[in-house]
Amino acid sequence: MGAVIHSAPLVIPVSRPPLRDGAMAVRRGRVLEIGRRRELLAAYPGEEEMRWPGVVVAGLVNAHTHLQFTRMAQVGRRVYASFEEWSHAFDAVYFSSGGADWAASAREGAELALRHGTTAVADVVTDVEAMTVLSQAGLAGISYLEVLGDTDASWAETGRHHLTSTVRELASGDAEDTAMIGISPHAPYTLDTGVLADLGTLARGFGLRQHIHLLESVHEREYTVSGTGPIARLVRELGFDFEILRAGGTGHGPVAFLDALGLLGPHCHVAHGVHLDAGERALLRERGVSVALCPRSNRTLGLDGPPVAALLKEGSEVAVGTDSLASSPSLDLLEDVRLLHALAREQGYRAPDLARRLVEAATVGGARAIGLDAGPGRIGSLGEGSRCDFAVFAIDPGERDPYRTLVEDGPGRCVATVTGAHRTARVHLVNSAPEARRGC
Ligand SMILES: [Zn+2]
Repeated sequence: MGAVIHSAPLVIPVSRPPLRDGAMAVRRGRVLEIGRRRELLAAYPGEEEMRWPGVVVAGLVNAHTHLQFTRMAQVGRRVYASFEEWSHAFDAVYFSSGGADWAASAREGAELALRHGTTAVADVVTDVEAMTVLSQAGLAGISYLEVLGDTDASWAETGRHHLTSTVRELASGDAEDTAMIGISPHAPYTLDTGVLADLGTLARGFGLRQHIHLLESVHEREYTVSGTGPIARLVRELGFDFEILRAGGTGHGPVAFLDALGLLGPHCHVAHGVHLDAGERALLRERGVSVALCPRSNRTLGLDGPPVAALLKEGSEVAVGTDSLASSPSLDLLEDVRLLHALAREQGYRAPDLARRLVEAATVGGARAIGLDAGPGRIGSLGEGSRCDFAVFAIDPGERDPYRTLVEDGPGRCVATVTGAHRTARVHLVNSAPEARRGC
């Protein structure tokens, strides 16, 4: 099977500096070589060339979303006064959606993600039928089976057995070159203390990655410290009699609480982190935990912006997520990157590398958060041996800083996405029906 040369006026491989008039040679869904177009055409004479317009960049990695909630977009179109207000609105729709086809909803989400240049996803899955959507859609990434609403008693009785048998069933499927599974203990306030600890043990035992919502609400700290406040009321309303409520808290903030239970480590990444303080950011760094920032979702919920400037300045591992359409206006990850850029400037980040660091966060940073940034078939950057996952943006490459051009002009301008799943480069054209894809 011959190679195909993909070329563009500007190629941003992420792992190396941008290339003007760049190209890459691709075979069976993998990058063979990357360099200047003229050099590659000479090195691969007679091979087919696909000339893309504008800017080609390594496929975006959406490090936090819930594709199955794509059909709940009516919840995400409003703006709320607080996390708790949004949570009530979400529950009202979710718990009245009996019989919903969550797999179909997730497939629509996967299609939208591809249309915005996303080629890999950290997808939190509440209903198990949506667990296999990523690999079917050609997306890389991890489907995290979500666990929430278990007391220590219900966990011992049924929850634990249910989770372990589901994981075994899913793990026995075809794992070759497909998306993988992980476990998502939803958040520090939706599971009892013993359940959280056990989930940490199970994830390590199964060798699975883990993903947790953390410090999205300003009231989360009060909940773990003293077992009081709006989150405690929410938990009681849902009928959960957790140990934290009975004991009047743990005396610790959410990060120290999870750490004491053994949940934090390089196999884990967290979402949101809106209210992380300096000590908590340092602890996450020490544990090798990436933070997936979802600023447009935070804005929908009426929350502050995440501390992006501090995280970047301190050298934390940062990734970017859209969250789901139930809390965000779209699955266009570059819109979140653009907002993070504005927030970082507002928060006093002055260095000229800001756009580059945020593009890295949205690509290789996301890949690192889900453990897929290294080895053969790696994602998040383009180079020899990587998957040929990339996105094409119809924007004028101009003479400006390439990263800035992408951040400022890229949102809404993706025209094609190419994925290397199943060892075949598959082209997804944005302005055509899904069946118009072609293999190469
Ligand atoms: Zn979420």
